[in-house]
Amino acid sequence: MVAAEVKREQVFEWLANVPDPEIPVLSILDLGIVRDVDVSAGVTVTLTPTYSGCPATEVIESTVLMALRQHGVVDVAIKRVLSPPWTTDWITADGREKLRRYGIAPPSKEKPVACPQCESLDTECVSEFGSTACKAAWRCRECLEPFEYFKCL
Ligand SMILES: [Zn+2]
Repeated sequence: MVAAEVKREQVFEWLANVPDPEIPVLSILDLGIVRDVDVSAGVTVTLTPTYSGCPATEVIESTVLMALRQHGVVDVAIKRVLSPPWTTDWITADGREKLRRYGIAPPSKEKPVACPQCESLDTECVSEFGSTACKAAWRCRECLEPFEYFKCL
């Protein structure tokens, strides 16, 4: 008797509902940290943490385990891969749009950073330290709204 087979796409669908603990509007798929899903022997989810030593990593791993177990997958393993390191380039287009709607300027290699509220480029960095290590506090000189900028890595 073989355990019911789990489809890879199904696992991806479930993972699309696992939020990033620091920015809950983003799923871990939006964040781009899910490198692979292997269903050949149980389910193995390969993850690359956003920042090494980021406290969210442990939370994400246990949330993934819980999510899959809730769907009846007992044989789950998490593989943590550190190389190549995650970069903000891996955040999906969807993820960037969700960030913007949430009021966080998505990471950008282009300067200046556009205000997520009014899209003005007349913005300034107030502090390199936002509510979490990966964000900086910015302010828009056009609409005068403060906003957070997801730092580029
Ligand atoms: Zn603005």
